[in-house]
Amino acid sequence: MKFSRVFPALVTGVGVFTAGSAGAAAQELDTTEDLLRRLTEAPGPSAFEEEVRRVVVAEFEALGAAIEYDGLGSVHAELPASGDGPRVMVTAHLDEVGLMVQHITSDGFIRVKNLGGFLGHAYPDQRWTILGRNGPVLAISGLPTVHVSTNAQRSQVWSVDQVALDVGATSREEVEAMGVRPGDGIAPWSPFAVLPNDRYAAKGWDDRVGLAVMIAAARRIRAEGIELPGDVVWVATTQEEIGLRGAQTAVDHARPDIGISIEAGVSADYPGIGPTQAQERLGSGPGIFLLDSSMIPNRRFRDFFFDVAEQEGIPLQPDVLTGYGEDGAEIQRYDSGRPAVNMTVPTRYLHAHTGIIQRSDFDQAVELLIRVLVRLDEDTVEQIGSFEPR
Ligand SMILES: [Zn+2]
Repeated sequence: MKFSRVFPALVTGVGVFTAGSAGAAAQELDTTEDLLRRLTEAPGPSAFEEEVRRVVVAEFEALGAAIEYDGLGSVHAELPASGDGPRVMVTAHLDEVGLMVQHITSDGFIRVKNLGGFLGHAYPDQRWTILGRNGPVLAISGLPTVHVSTNAQRSQVWSVDQVALDVGATSREEVEAMGVRPGDGIAPWSPFAVLPNDRYAAKGWDDRVGLAVMIAAARRIRAEGIELPGDVVWVATTQEEIGLRGAQTAVDHARPDIGISIEAGVSADYPGIGPTQAQERLGSGPGIFLLDSSMIPNRRFRDFFFDVAEQEGIPLQPDVLTGYGEDGAEIQRYDSGRPAVNMTVPTRYLHAHTGIIQRSDFDQAVELLIRVLVRLDEDTVEQIGSFEPR
């Protein structure tokens, strides 16, 4: 995207730091890292996913895919030489958690509402991108100075109604002249960075990492001529973070017989979180949700994933958690019901300005997805979806 001069920090390029030497010369990114960088740096709060959609569509078009859009803006891609077996929906969502401009004060501050769930801790002291009509605008959520804060204010957690974004303007008219209006979407701003141990820091892993798994798998399927028995449709959904809304229409368009949602998992391996919240860990392979707040996956399909992972020597982490909904639930409730699972790439610090993933988990998720798709023929899908007593 083109950044106007009101967003100078991004005009000169993004901050890609070499391991252990922040601020050193940018290091060369491989094709997967570059894909992850472009997907995570694209701003795309719910219903404002144009920049993310642009990346996804370009990637699938480069693979010769036929692209369709449903009426809410989800992207449906089908690769050439797709099989004629069961209809398999592989999905990840375009949007990330963000904000929306509510109103602009006479002295030029911007009041907001949230699009998706942040902890109150995540609002102040951050940089944001407002998606205005003249291009992106850099905004700061300030933090009142400690020098004048009372003891109560020092331990306060913010509500979204306390946020006042500062774009450097002195009046409402100045903000409007920058192209910012009520109803504009706002995304966190946080450049991609490479950390030690092939770990990556960025915003929006939920769910750009899922989109990247889909694209990386599709690239390999095309490059290696891998034949899939199923008629696979790759779907990038809109508006997941505000209640799985895009997936509700996407399933009607995709008409799946079976579905796989790919998400940012909850890595519970840092201070302040533990196995009573979630069980995934960075570096221990992809995850699979056995329970979340939106669905219990089809048990035969769940077990099929574990069987394939074992046969292929790919580690697969079970995760039982609540407080997390995902698009697989809409596949599960499509028509009279369909088998669905949610596979993940473990991620630290979801729904905040910067999360961390590990490359080996990503690569193994791509591998497992391909190995599952190769096996989803007519008989297998029929067996997975059958509830006849055996
Ligand atoms: Zn998500």
